[in-house]
Amino acid sequence: MQVEISRRRFLQGSVAMSVVGGTTFSATNLFASHEESHSGVPKSITTKTGTGEATEVATLCEMCVNKCAAIARVENGVVTKLNPNPMFPKSKNMLCPRGNAGIQALYDPDRLKYPMIRVGEKGEGKFKRVSWEEAYEAILNGTDKFPGMAKILEEEEDNRSSFLFCAGEGMAEHTFKQFYGAFGSSNWLNHASLCLQTVISGYSLTIGGYAAADLDNAEYIIMAGANRAEAIVTPDTMDVFKRTKGRGAKLICVDPRFTNTAAKSDKWLAINPGTDLAFVLALTYVVINEDLYNKEYVAENFNGFDEYSKSVITNKYTPEWAEKITGIKAKEIYKVAREFMAHAPKAVYYPGRRSTFANNDFQLRRAMAIFQGLGGGIDTKGGLVFGKKLKLGKHKGLEPLYARAESRAVEKIKHPKKGHAGYSDCAVVSGGGSWIAWRNRFIEDRMPYKVRGMFIYKHNPMMNMPNTKKTAQMLKKMELVVAIDTMPSDTVMYADVVLPEATYLERTDPVKTFGGVEPSIAQRNKVVEPMFETQPVMAIMKGLTEKISKPLWEITKKFDEDVQDELTVEEKPKVVKSADGNETVATAPVKTEAQIEAELYEEFDLTLPFHHTQEEVNEHMVKSVYGEEAVKALKENGVFYPDMENYYKQISVNEHQYYPEKKKYYSVNGGKPKTRSKKVECVIANLASKGVDPMPVWKDEYNFKVEEGKFRLLTGRHAQFTQSGTANNSVLRDLIMENYIWINRRTAEKKGIKFGDRIEVSSRTGKTELKAYPTEKVAPNQVFFVHGFGEESEELTWAYKNGGNDNSVIEDIIEPVYGAASMHETNVEIRKV
Ligand code: SF4
Repeated sequence: MQVEISRRRFLQGSVAMSVVGGTTFSATNLFASHEESHSGVPKSITTKTGTGEATEVATLCEMCVNKCAAIARVENGVVTKLNPNPMFPKSKNMLCPRGNAGIQALYDPDRLKYPMIRVGEKGEGKFKRVSWEEAYEAILNGTDKFPGMAKILEEEEDNRSSFLFCAGEGMAEHTFKQFYGAFGSSNWLNHASLCLQTVISGYSLTIGGYAAADLDNAEYIIMAGANRAEAIVTPDTMDVFKRTKGRGAKLICVDPRFTNTAAKSDKWLAINPGTDLAFVLALTYVVINEDLYNKEYVAENFNGFDEYSKSVITNKYTPEWAEKITGIKAKEIYKVAREFMAHAPKAVYYPGRRSTFANNDFQLRRAMAIFQGLGGGIDTKGGLVFGKKLKLGKHKGLEPLYARAESRAVEKIKHPKKGHAGYSDCAVVSGGGSWIAWRNRFIEDRMPYKVRGMFIYKHNPMMNMPNTKKTAQMLKKMELVVAIDTMPSDTVMYADVVLPEATYLERTDPVKTFGGVEPSIAQRNKVVEPMFETQPVMAIMKGLTEKISKPLWEITKKFDEDVQDELTVEEKPKVVKSADGNETVATAPVKTEAQIEAELYEEFDLTLPFHHTQEEVNEHMVKSVYGEEAVKALKENGVFYPDMENYYKQISVNEHQYYPEKKKYYSVNGGKPKTRSKKVECVIANLASKGVDPMPVWKDEYNFKVEEGKFRLLTGRHAQFTQSGTANNSVLRDLIMENYIWINRRTAEKKGIKFGDRIEVSSRTGKTELKAYPTEKVAPNQVFFVHGFGEESEELTWAYKNGGNDNSVIEDIIEPVYGAASMHETNVEIRKV
């Protein structure tokens, strides 16, 4: 089945959507009867194909991380339109062009359709179609090309950590993680160290959480290194730019490039890459030196302020000092510091939602959080807001203890009694791990034990992790690679077994609570049945665990002494009377061997978390807290929150009230940070014990340096693409055909480079090729191109060799605190091909 959407029709749809969305729903039909709601029951509506009958299903978008609410229209079993769902406070009746193009993710002819097993060489991309049973059999027992998990676990004597599990961001990541928990490995890696790790950790340690910015009410916003007008155009992005340029909020954009955000801001300050920390320290200097901070707030809510302010002042982090490092004029730094404090607490230093750019990123985030606190703008309207999260019921998981499972494979435990494993790659071991450190240790044989297999869910490390060559090496070396995905990505090409997942429009995902000023619960409901032989991850896990659970249990019984002890039949003394009345003492088992084993196996039965469908699990999690009506609301409208029937109102064509102003959760902690001490932590002694500066300070090694003839490589995102995940979407590709490398116009002229010339970009790591875009929007010693292009998988018709892949050039430099990938520390050379 194939549905074609022309670019023109697609764009028309995007424009029309808000009007359609605004008139389709109203408060009166919010809790309408089953027949009138978006529950998949056919009804008469004007359709694109003119059949006059269609069904509508409330779902959530998965084209980027934002999870906007959508209403899918289905005609004769085909999804023909995605409209915004006005009921969701987070997405406020908006579905962006990328969200509209979600239909193409469902009908992409290249998508994975059937389970497959590798028949060619690793990475060659040669597979044969098999049944689900054959795929599960290959995972358990292998083929002539690769070993199965039974052989691996047998040879590794039931060390469950001989398997790595990794996943990309998504609502069903939770389901996959339950499999990881039940399997019993300690090797888990997610996208955090390639994404938000340092910002989340920096803010959490300093003010107790990665708070949202109340951009609706802030009067002054500093957006540094965050390119909201271009990189992620979500509903709240639109809200910001409705208020800039004299319309209620002043926006200061700090970025090395002249981005779309810079163009739409009130002031653009061009900064040298990686020097934002110096900028924030200088802002802090001005505010302390001129006594501009909120003294009452600081006295009540800060720990270590005297020590930190002494450091800032004695180190002379003046604007004049910062000018030499950042390239931003001292007078501008004075002005921003004074203006920020004049508007505080309704002033926000926007925390950002980007990946780690520089090695000092963790300290930068700490300095930003402290600066924010100096104005008192924490847990308050117009500042940073923690918001509220609505509760959900619990779902039963399984995390058995395997005596033979080793700890996380990064380094041998040096002091097993004193604490966790040593982790010399970086200072702190986070739950998501350090992807680069793990990969490099694996390929360099620096692991404390053998890791031989991996499960990859919705994750494309070939495209998303610096140094693509090393990632390929890792995947080649791994003896059993199982990939669960919707698309034949570069990573899938290295798999031994491919399990095709249903796309987001074909599955119900775990119900999710969305915290914030206007909290709600939302659910992605299945819109159409899965096509081909694809399945949702819950069903995949059910089938897989039913196949492997018992055979793996037999291996555990063989090697796990704890299990063996527990299986020992306990004998109990028993008085036996003979026929002549004599009594003797004999021993008899309390329970039979079979009974004991059956009871013990329940603790190790991998199928346990997957006994119910996702719909049943969701129902339980919602009903146990909010009752039947909430379950119904989520199925029919996709969204629920207490008192919604009273609060939710349409107030104009495209405006809705979700919570009355007085009921919004601007403040949930009395205006205080959420750290354990309820204070802003300026100095963290614990960090010093790990070799990390206890408070943010500048170091010479952070200075921006580029050798003559080289360029600092900057990367970023484009609103039409979500990393490599949407690179093959032909509808989106219509909007931006390929990525171009930005080269300063004067530099390009000197090198004889014209628009569209092919350029080779190279570093110590590798090279890539793409077309040139000479422009004044980037500095002469820097170049830029958008991430997510240049895939190598021949199965991707549109993405194959389309543009350049940044990660084939970016060096694998590890940020020292959390082991995140530092994306903007690589200098490159360029040449016209
Ligand atoms: S911002 Fe766009 S792509 Fe992202 S979830 Fe919302 S509609 Fe989907």
